Amino acid sequence: MSLLGMLDGGPGAVCSASGCAASAAHAIHWRNPRIHGEDRVKTWAACDDHRESLAAWLRSRAFPVAVTPFGETVERVA
Ligand SMILES: [Zn+2]
Repeated sequence: MSLLGMLDGGPGAVCSASGCAASAAHAIHWRNPRIHGEDRVKTWAACDDHRESLAAWLRSRAFPVAVTPFGETVERVA
């Protein structure tokens, strides 16, 4: 996984799911309230197949999650 590729939203960014090499179509923005302040946003890239499973994994841990088209950013997740 290329962190830079994820952040700049350029071509070649791949899904963050383990072992997946599909190109990213979605961005999953999240934070862990126990360690991240409200102004921190972490972003994963996700392909069509993994968007739901990655978001569900985060939601199952009670992390705030927002899903957008890949390349979009959010100010915060709440
Ligand atoms: Zn994937």
